[in-house]
Amino acid sequence: MRTEDVGRYQMLWDCPFCGTEKLLGLDHRHCPSCGGAQDPDKRYYPPEGEEIAVEDHPFHGADRECPNCSTPNSAQATFCGNCGSPLDEAAAVKRKADQRPDDPPPPPEPDPAKGGGGKGSRKGCAFFVVVLLFVGFAAFCLMSTFWKKDASVTVTGHSWTRSITVEKQGTATASAWKESVPKDATNIVCKKEQQSTKKVESGEECKTVRKDKGDGTYDKVKECSPTYKDEPVYGQKCSYRTQKWTTARTEKAQGNSTGDRIAWPQLKLQSGERQGARTETYVVKFKVDGSDSGSCDTNQQRWATLEDGSTWNGKISVISSSIDCDSLTRK
Ligand SMILES: [Zn+2]
Ligand SMILES: [Zn+2]
Repeated sequence: MRTEDVGRYQMLWDCPFCGTEKLLGLDHRHCPSCGGAQDPDKRYYPPEGEEIAVEDHPFHGADRECPNCSTPNSAQATFCGNCGSPLDEAAAVKRKADQRPDDPPPPPEPDPAKGGGGKGSRKGCAFFVVVLLFVGFAAFCLMSTFWKKDASVTVTGHSWTRSITVEKQGTATASAWKESVPKDATNIVCKKEQQSTKKVESGEECKTVRKDKGDGTYDKVKECSPTYKDEPVYGQKCSYRTQKWTTARTEKAQGNSTGDRIAWPQLKLQSGERQGARTETYVVKFKVDGSDSGSCDTNQQRWATLEDGSTWNGKISVISSSIDCDSLTRK
């Protein structure tokens, strides 16, 4: 922030004894009408346009208030000009707060009589309901995961799948900023477009602040801060063609017996094709406690040990009826 001194001016005060207004803080230590002593606590900044400049007034520090008669005395005085008391113990007068005429007025206090409170409590209620729903949902998830009961399960069947995706190379159109265009891109066409914005200094915003010096005068200081604006930054936006692998088809092998010879499907790749991701699943089907049916996913080794017709003790979720394959123990 940049500051600039504008000048020094007199604070004003009103005589509480005879009612004379706008007396000068520096020149009128006593009321010219009735002789009453100035009260430094009653000093105020003058209205705009009624300012009285102080020329060549050296600043020695805030006035000191006489401990005997409360009259403000210059910081250089050793005895009170009003009553003659020594000023060794005298404290500096309290300065008025800085005045910033361009400051926005303080926001009005919300009026609870105007229905603001009702709106607030409705908001609070909606919030409460949302929290309640969330807590309920979390409890349900926890229960379905952890609330389990012991059950006797009998293996009724098996199934397995092994799949391999086949990917095919093709071309795709894409667009990016020039610096992000991939190396293998072809058919690149670029044009100028706004890419971002940057802040640039656009000028200065100044406030005139009045600062009480405490000796019956105040300084006017211009406080200036730079202002900024957004300026567009241009770049080259490019469209291009690029090689891209996409899933062409999925080859699948499957069966439903632990006696199967489990193998990956035979791939016959054509030109421009490659092998993609491999996935395998092993599912065991059960009868639970003689009636309900259920199933579980597991690995190939575990799957093979759960023979058809064998009976196991296990944990079953009370809510979703899903079975944890790893919890099964042979009966
Ligand atoms: Zn007076
Ligand atoms: Zn005094």
